[in-house]
Amino acid sequence: MARRATKIVATLGPASSDPKLLEEMVRAGVNVVRLNFSHGKAQDHIDRAKLVREVAQRAGREVAIMADLQGPKIRVGKFAEGKVLLEPGSRFVLDASREAPGDVYGVGLDYKELPRDVRAGDVLLLNDGLIVLTVNAVEGEQVHTTVKLGGELSNNKGINKQGGGLSAPALTAKDMEDIRTAMSFQADYVAVSFPKTATDMEMARQLCNVAAAEYRHKAHLIAKIERAEAIPNLESILKASDGIMVARGDLAVEVGNAAVPALQKKMIRMARANDKLAITATQMMESMITNPVPTRAEVSDVANAVLDGTDAVMLSAETAAGRYPLETVIEMANICAEAEMAEEVTLDADFTSMDFQRIDQSIAMGALFTAHHLGCKAIVALTDSGSTALWMSRHRIHIPIYALTPRLSTQRKMALYRNVRPLLMDQSADRDTALREAEAHLKRRGIVGKGDIYAITCGEPMGAPGGTNMLKICRAE
Ligand code: PGA
Ligand code: MN
Repeated sequence: MARRATKIVATLGPASSDPKLLEEMVRAGVNVVRLNFSHGKAQDHIDRAKLVREVAQRAGREVAIMADLQGPKIRVGKFAEGKVLLEPGSRFVLDASREAPGDVYGVGLDYKELPRDVRAGDVLLLNDGLIVLTVNAVEGEQVHTTVKLGGELSNNKGINKQGGGLSAPALTAKDMEDIRTAMSFQADYVAVSFPKTATDMEMARQLCNVAAAEYRHKAHLIAKIERAEAIPNLESILKASDGIMVARGDLAVEVGNAAVPALQKKMIRMARANDKLAITATQMMESMITNPVPTRAEVSDVANAVLDGTDAVMLSAETAAGRYPLETVIEMANICAEAEMAEEVTLDADFTSMDFQRIDQSIAMGALFTAHHLGCKAIVALTDSGSTALWMSRHRIHIPIYALTPRLSTQRKMALYRNVRPLLMDQSADRDTALREAEAHLKRRGIVGKGDIYAITCGEPMGAPGGTNMLKICRAE
């Protein structure tokens, strides 16, 4: 298998829950497994997390678990017949007070606040934008609309407002409960759906930290950027998070399809500039839900996300419910590896505009620069929290970064970092032992041979977080 820097997030579902198959998927390149909390009960997720940990152990790979919270359900209610066919030009009423099942004239709402959030002239998109309604008037609890784009509307389909503006808070009571469940199995990442501001992320962080305190665990937080309002707040949301997801499914409905590619590039650029992670998600290999090969457009989409600098590309229904979950992962891994070869290294230019305040960060950048110019075969970071590896991985370089950590939770989190291979080292190792262990790792994997040089960063004394203060260039024995 070709060396690959970009990581793969795969959503677990009925199509990928068989332990043998999941193990094959992990061996084929899945680095992060996403548990989608929009489906299933708490116990299902607990069982699945256990399965992922067991499979990762068997495959001998570090795999992170990402708990993806459902977020506010902005949905229509149910229909008497399960669904209706809406004709263009007809009238349709969304009624928050309606108890009776819906029909072709109107339907109740799961989201009771809708009449307060919209006004005449607004455009509502249902079922991922397949149905478009324009609002004529709001009367009490009723939103009167005209069908612009018709089609089949079935039970509990989602509602988005064009341009954003739905007031539902990002964290629901269910999300808070789900955070507790996710922390009970020490999910490495928690993805927050529909955040609008940094405050949404800070609140999620607090809830995670409180729920995880008894396990002495800290999860990384991912903000799913899928609301129009999140875009102007991106910088502050990034600062309050460990990373973002370019959640193209919902985002496209709110801001319009055509705006998404440029936003994706901007979001990934900003994430990296802020030393944060980026995941590119939704419909990346959509046709492989039913076909054994991707379309040319999908191949280009994955490759372009890689060239944009994403840490990871994500699979949703492709692995959760598709017919070819393993084939999709294999295909995606190949596309990533190939695209990376075309990546330009712009390290010198990166550094002209940077200024460093911290010792550990300066050492990390010094290691990158030196390794690049000396032609090192590898960079090794001895890291407690993973920060050194994170800083290094924010720059394009064709040298693999091996992150050695004594902490299992750091190792797992780093599974998502672009171009970082997380390795676990002995907790009690002193510096010389750790350095020897590092070289042994590199040799075993055929990364360095006798006489090759590599760069290594560490801290003295060892084991103090944020203590990286040394750079050593070694020649392998
Ligand atoms: P979802 O989020 O799959 O949970 O909806 C991703 C997206 O909206 O793109
Ligand atoms: Mn979404």
